[in-house]
Amino acid sequence: MIGIYLKRGRDESLRRFHPWVFSGAVARTAGSPAEGDLVEVYSAEGEFLAVGHYQVGSIAVRILSFDRSALDPDFFVRMISRASDVRRAAGLPSAETDCFRLVHGEGDSLPGLIIDWYGGVCVMQAHSVGMFRARKQICAALQSIFADSLKAVYDKSSGTAPFKAGLELVDGYLYKSEGFTDDEQTVMENGHRFIVDWTGGQKTGFFLDQRENRASVGRLSAGRRVLNLFCYTGGFSIYALAAGAAFVDSVDSSARAMDMLARNVELNGFDASRHEEHCADAIEYLKNCPKGRYDLIIVDPPAFAKHRGALQNALRAYRRLNACAIDAVAPGGLVFTYSCSQVVDRDTFAMTVFSAAAQTGRKVRILDRLNQPADHCVNIYHPEGEYLKGLLLYVE
Ligand code: SAH
Repeated sequence: MIGIYLKRGRDESLRRFHPWVFSGAVARTAGSPAEGDLVEVYSAEGEFLAVGHYQVGSIAVRILSFDRSALDPDFFVRMISRASDVRRAAGLPSAETDCFRLVHGEGDSLPGLIIDWYGGVCVMQAHSVGMFRARKQICAALQSIFADSLKAVYDKSSGTAPFKAGLELVDGYLYKSEGFTDDEQTVMENGHRFIVDWTGGQKTGFFLDQRENRASVGRLSAGRRVLNLFCYTGGFSIYALAAGAAFVDSVDSSARAMDMLARNVELNGFDASRHEEHCADAIEYLKNCPKGRYDLIIVDPPAFAKHRGALQNALRAYRRLNACAIDAVAPGGLVFTYSCSQVVDRDTFAMTVFSAAAQTGRKVRILDRLNQPADHCVNIYHPEGEYLKGLLLYVE
């Protein structure tokens, strides 16, 4: 295996089990690894530190293990079994929920790998070249762990694996059990049913990270007039309807998401007269809607900042959006507001919502601080893994 030698004093973060080696910390490479190759990382003094996937870019190595002997043929079986044990410890799956994140990258010490479980269908996204190249081994590990309960493994890495231009990646099935033909699956989340379409939908098909927050919205929706902004296929809307909301209006700019939402409303047996879909820009919708029309508003936009360079523009966008929502909600209303941008930390988000509130001049209380759920676990040595944060506001 090719060795990567760090500059003097740049071994500290690895000794604290942080899973990344930045390219600026590398003194020399003993050989010329291909992207995605396994490499060993050494201190300037020549001490073995860790083994991981090599890549060209600001993160040169994503660490898979701090133990040299761990990368044996059973590595993925062991690691994914452990990830599955963690979900079981957190109560997943359960009688009410059969969809969850099975592998959450660094959170499960598998940097660059996401696997979501949809009632027996695994949808995998590789975010690193190394994980993409390992996809067949990963699929074999899933087959050996889950045996007959595994219906299919779908690789959806074309939009996430960081290959340079010129290499056309094609998404597709790595495994299908006998008789499996569907490109979608009906799953259950806290007893509510959703159709998940991994081939045509966004990300792996469904936003599993809002499971607990949807339940919180459900608990507070009875009798309320609800607006679900950035609704996608209607996760929050279904919970609000089930909880007895007076009515729910759902807004998203994706026509495809709207079609899925209509199917999900029907699937859960709700009277369509309590629900309206609006294919529109969320800010435009808010600007045109009469103030006080809603007494519970959900604001769950896509990540406005995908990297640090986009931070200032993103904060301006969050401020504007939140000011519009706080301004619009009826007196005594609730606003559930989120950011899933990893580079916007919890305090910065709170400050941004604070300044949005100040713009409106309304009296606002924070009732709760909201998080990502247990299956989107955070490796304690990689705090960057905490990406989803939110606030529950009461607007007087
Ligand atoms: N709340 C959703 C997930 C939201 S993901 C859930 O629980 O499943 C973000 C969504 O915002 C996507 O569906 C995307 O289509 C939508 N979107 C992006 N830009 C938008 C805009 N300007 N106005 C409205 N929707 C937008």
